[in-house]
Amino acid sequence: MSQPRIVIVGGGFGGLAAAKALKNTPAQVILIDRTNHHLFQPLLYQVATAALTPSQIATPIRSIFRKQENVTVILGEVTAVDKERKCVFVSDADRERVPVAYDYLILATGATHSYFGHNEFEEYAPGLKSLADAVASRNKILQAFEQAEGEEDPSRHRDLLTFILVGAGPTGVEMAGALAILVRSTLRSDFRRIDPASARIVLVDMAPRVLPPFSEGLSEAAKRRLEELGVEVRLGHGVDRIDAEGIVVAGERIASKTVIWTAGVAPSPAGKWLKVETDRAGRVCVQNDVTVPGHPEIFVVGDTASFEEGGKPLPGVAQVAMQQGRYAGKLIHSRIVGSTPPGPFRYFDKGSMAVVGKGFAVLQSYKVRVSGFGAWLAWAAIHLQFLATSSLRLTVFLQWVWTYFTGQRGSRLIVNHHGSQPAKAAEETSTKTAVA
Ligand SMILES: Cc1cc2nc3c(=O)[nH]c(=O)nc-3n(C[C@H](O)[C@H](O)[C@H](O)COP(=O)(O)OP(=O)(O)OC[C@H]3O[C@@H](n4cnc5c(N)ncnc54)[C@H](O)[C@@H]3O)c2cc1C
Repeated sequence: MSQPRIVIVGGGFGGLAAAKALKNTPAQVILIDRTNHHLFQPLLYQVATAALTPSQIATPIRSIFRKQENVTVILGEVTAVDKERKCVFVSDADRERVPVAYDYLILATGATHSYFGHNEFEEYAPGLKSLADAVASRNKILQAFEQAEGEEDPSRHRDLLTFILVGAGPTGVEMAGALAILVRSTLRSDFRRIDPASARIVLVDMAPRVLPPFSEGLSEAAKRRLEELGVEVRLGHGVDRIDAEGIVVAGERIASKTVIWTAGVAPSPAGKWLKVETDRAGRVCVQNDVTVPGHPEIFVVGDTASFEEGGKPLPGVAQVAMQQGRYAGKLIHSRIVGSTPPGPFRYFDKGSMAVVGKGFAVLQSYKVRVSGFGAWLAWAAIHLQFLATSSLRLTVFLQWVWTYFTGQRGSRLIVNHHGSQPAKAAEETSTKTAVA
């Protein structure tokens, strides 16, 4: 008899945990992802601010499962699910909508940016969700300093050296702190005509405080730290406009050539594929065993699922995704081998952390609330522990130690994969001249 087939869509935190939990299951596990790598999103801001290289926070999914023989990794994008025929449709570089059948399905397709109905902001304020986004932000930030150094007219330096982050949640706060360290230490001696330390970093949010999921005391400590680092924190007003010249907030225009969106997220379209009930944000409402009502063979986990505990939906964080993925894997295992199934899913909240610049973090776990160097050490240890492989743990650790003591960063390259803009413009001009 052929083995049952488990299709997992998404090789992020949830999908990876599910596949690992199926290690000893007599089943064929097909893991489909549209990228070839598992990405450690919590450190994306460090790639965007040139502290780490892309390969230090991402690992090929295939290499993670090289020793787990029941897992087959497929590079492709799922575009639909047929619940009745029990198959997902996958498109890749040269094939469209190829049906892949399943006996069990785990959807772990995560989330993307949300511009809260202002999709026109995206052109001027890219988000931070993928490696490509992080490299694009890094290019933009480093390019601004290069342009300012080459700019003869000092009145233009202000716009070029103003960096705006929209969204003061963990990503915005961490990114603002890292940018402040970049301009005040790493870049300090590298330029002749401009002073990188004069760069203006503005963090904007409509919420009344930074890091809303943290206690008021920790929010205040993080805000104070940001201000000590020279970050301007502007709270209580959302942005009214974002365009090529900067932003408008509370009626005031702040001119800037670099605006980065670190605000909302929206779930993947899993709810639309399944045509099932979703919450207001569009996340699939799952039952207490993370399955979809009426379909015990379909599981939805992580950022794309809405799971209520104590009357509140669980937050979109890596811990939730990992625990739900592991749970779905264990439940499927028990059904296949006929062992006792686990009880309903319960989230074990280990706490939250955010880092603010060098040597300072805030940590909240149950009644413990700490800020400062100790919290930063805990943050570093925990993040290292959750990186996907031991080689990543080692290289990131060494890089952090090096950066901590020397101020130097791992990856300050501007990499434009399709040629630089000025070169392209020059090329176009010369083609036009030749044609004329
Ligand atoms: C910048 C940033 C910082 C963060 N910092 C923290 C933090 O400090 N602590 C914390 O706990 N959480 C943090 N998070 C949140 C955390 O990363 C997410 O909660 C977690 O990644 C969710 O896991 P997931 O498995 O649901 O989705 P993901 O990890 O996002 O994985 C989804 C996977 O699905 C794939 N995929 C999506 N759609 C398709 C498709 N149609 N076909 C095929 N593949 C598809 C994607 O390529 C991806 O690999 C952060 C997130 C971001 C963006």
